[in-house]
Amino acid sequence: MDIKVGDILTLKKKHPCASFDWEVLRIGADFRIKCLGCGHQLMLPRVKVEKSIKKIKKVEDGDSRL
Ligand SMILES: [Zn+2]
Repeated sequence: MDIKVGDILTLKKKHPCASFDWEVLRIGADFRIKCLGCGHQLMLPRVKVEKSIKKIKKVEDGDSRL
């Protein structure tokens, strides 16, 4: 699965703050993702993230979000 830093992941499970969308902050064996609803950050194993993804919104190249 092609996931890049800055991509927005829509997960199957809803966060307690009611948001489904998470921004990818860091990629590796573990992913660091940030909830777009409340700003909560999580570290999750890559496999677990990939399993719970419903949709990926790709970030455009050159987007200076960081
Ligand atoms: Zn949240």
